[in-house]
Amino acid sequence: MFELLSNPVVSGLLIMTLLAGVSYKLHFVDISGLVSAFMVGFIVWYAGGPAAFTILLFFFLSSGLATKFKYKAKAKQGVAQEAKGRRSWKNVTASGIIPTIFAIGMYLAPRLSTNPDLPFYMFAGLVGAIATTTSDNLASEIGVFSKRTPRLITNLRRKVPRGTIGGVSLLGEQVALAAGFAIGLIVVLFAYFAPSTVPVTSANQITMFIPLAALTGFVGCNMDSVLGAVIQNKFVCDICGAVTDKDVHCSSQTKYIGGCKWFSNMHVNLGSSLMGSTLGIVLGVGLFVWVFGGVFFWILASSSS
Ligand SMILES: [Zn+2]
Repeated sequence: MFELLSNPVVSGLLIMTLLAGVSYKLHFVDISGLVSAFMVGFIVWYAGGPAAFTILLFFFLSSGLATKFKYKAKAKQGVAQEAKGRRSWKNVTASGIIPTIFAIGMYLAPRLSTNPDLPFYMFAGLVGAIATTTSDNLASEIGVFSKRTPRLITNLRRKVPRGTIGGVSLLGEQVALAAGFAIGLIVVLFAYFAPSTVPVTSANQITMFIPLAALTGFVGCNMDSVLGAVIQNKFVCDICGAVTDKDVHCSSQTKYIGGCKWFSNMHVNLGSSLMGSTLGIVLGVGLFVWVFGGVFFWILASSSS
């Protein structure tokens, strides 16, 4: 019996079925989202192992709960997710495809290459992508409760209505940083208590995970806002003036005002997830100085424009 359960296919199917039941009951996903989440979860479990799967699970559960958090208040302000917060296959794919690819990379790396650090780089890419989507989701679901008026990421002097695409708040930024930190902490706990589940070749790589995940979460989440502000399709609400990606705001129809027409929120999330994974690898390789320098100049440039 124990032998059967320790088979990753059997344990994976059991865990995914259990989680599928729970997340459907809690209305985290619709049927299409359930099927895709099942596949993403199973591949990441089988190919990436328990540590990779646990941070993905942290993303899934924390985002689901944050979406449900004060949903009615958010719906009233027009900043809630559509369909009562149930995510569809589009949402799941946009946030799950990059981690899936890197989990497969973790599986293939030791089989196809002799570079001992390659699995670590794949894992860093997976951590970067998941930190970014977690930070982004939690920051937008919780950041809307900021007491202060949000500001536009591409012009921090400009105040914008709540729910505006590219709008950022101090609360949202703090949540983004904390979410990335939590992801890094989970990885470090796995590295200490179940070392075989984290593909590192040195103790140095383990200590890197908290700054790596916190920084990628923070930067990736803000890149998401920039992408949203610059190219995403946008609609304006006639009643409150918010620029949003939603068809309906303040319970009235919104008007298309600009942005690339086919570039939706899903593409923004996919793009930022890709950037997060890239940043994760860059940091994993040990280029912290360059990234910190870049962030510093970016803040300098955006606050002076
Ligand atoms: Zn409105």
